[in-house]
Amino acid sequence: MSAHDPNCIFCKIIAGQIPSKKVYEDDEVFVFHDIQPWAPVHFLLVPKAHIPSMAQLTPEHEPLMGRMMVLASRLAAEQGCNPYPDGGFRLVCNTGTEGGQEVHHMHVHVMGGPRPWKRG
Ligand code: AMP
Ligand code: ZN
Repeated sequence: MSAHDPNCIFCKIIAGQIPSKKVYEDDEVFVFHDIQPWAPVHFLLVPKAHIPSMAQLTPEHEPLMGRMMVLASRLAAEQGCNPYPDGGFRLVCNTGTEGGQEVHHMHVHVMGGPRPWKRG
């Protein structure tokens, strides 16, 4: 698996070749607002490495995935999700066509904010 796929829209966003509303970046993770939000807060966490989906994860990815989970919670609060338990947020990681995945660069949706949401 190559680190970057020149045909991948999220690899292009990470490389700055396609504009995005960036929320956060470090050496392993890039975070940006979803272009079609379902909820008042809706952003995507993506690993900088081109991992197509959760189906390609191996034990070597455990530290990265752990970091992404902790980051998701921190950024949800920073982006305006209300505090647990009356507030909160939802994480979604669509995997494969039957899992509803459209962009084949692994990503975690983080959604929150006051309801109703457009979907879900
Ligand atoms: P999924 O169905 O889980 O693969 O979700 C892909 C998500 O990427 C969708 O919610 C899209 O709205 C979002 N998306 C696609 N292109 C862009 C883009 N250029 N900038 C931000 N979000 C995007
Ligand atoms: Zn990619």
